[in-house]
Amino acid sequence: MKYYNNILETIGNTPLVKINKITKDVKALVLAKVETTNPGNSVKDRMALQMIEDAEADGRLKPGGTVIEGTSGNTGMGLALACIQKGYKLICVLSDKQSKEKMDILRAVGAEVHVCPTNVEPDDPRSYYSVSKRLATEVPNSWYVNQYDNPSNTKAHYLTTGPEIWEQTEGKITHFVVGVGTGGTISGVGKYLKEKNPDIKIWGIDTYGSVFKKYHETGIFDENEIYPYITEGIGEDILPKNVNFDVIDKFEKVTDKDAAVYQRRLAKEEGIFVGNSAGSAIKGILQLKDELKEDDVVVVLFHDHGSRYVGKMFNDDWMRDRGFLDEEKVCAEDLIKD
Ligand code: PMP
Repeated sequence: MKYYNNILETIGNTPLVKINKITKDVKALVLAKVETTNPGNSVKDRMALQMIEDAEADGRLKPGGTVIEGTSGNTGMGLALACIQKGYKLICVLSDKQSKEKMDILRAVGAEVHVCPTNVEPDDPRSYYSVSKRLATEVPNSWYVNQYDNPSNTKAHYLTTGPEIWEQTEGKITHFVVGVGTGGTISGVGKYLKEKNPDIKIWGIDTYGSVFKKYHETGIFDENEIYPYITEGIGEDILPKNVNFDVIDKFEKVTDKDAAVYQRRLAKEEGIFVGNSAGSAIKGILQLKDELKEDDVVVVLFHDHGSRYVGKMFNDDWMRDRGFLDEEKVCAEDLIKD
């Protein structure tokens, strides 16, 4: 019989899928590493398990303990799966801009969910950074994960995602493109790929309202870059320790509207039903297409599943309210012309 001993064993070994229509004007071969086939439907299962197992190994997390994390949802889902298997309680602290689906999903897998306001300073006691840290001091036998600064986050991608991409492309990859939040994905995959071939370009996708691109280009942490935005999962108003700027060659910013429009195009034109940061990442490649040649092999990583966005980017009223639908009509007309 062929079976897995538990759901955690199904994490990783995700497929690499060619993008055909959206990238028709890009000379390079564009391949998507589609992370939705992980059991929690996101790439975050990989790092969640790594963070828990490393904390168990060095005694930070003890039997029967409570795991606490400030998470936008995907990490929470990964942590939940690991906590269920390993017998821990999980408390997730979310910001109120996260979709309701993400919160409901976390509750479905047994997590206790706390919701905090988004538009407050990170050091404000109401912010989700502050609330998670406070809970970690108040709840007995608890461990605060801190995916932003926890090195096991980057390590998971160095040990699994990076090698998978290298093997799946038979070492032919020339560019890796991915949205950046905690920085774990880009830093782990980037480090692994650069060790294999230092010529591989690592491009981070950022959003308007986030500090990464300016900091990378100037070394200045510019607070004027920080303002509210809609894009989910990427961009930050802090510099997480997991962002290794040394392995990143370039950041590209994509607008909220483009992220949503291209997320919908991935679903409608490629049948790839993925999250909002995937829309940012594919649009980022189109913005940088003049830097790509025919022989290039671009791998873009799609973090999570579209089902978490049915009340937002996949909802026409939500899109229309923000003036995001007009561009899609143009895209549809392009398609008819094709
Ligand atoms: N996209 C989504 C949907 C995410 O949840 C995250 C994690 N915040 C990212 C992209 C960014 O990944 P990372 O934290 O590894 O930089």
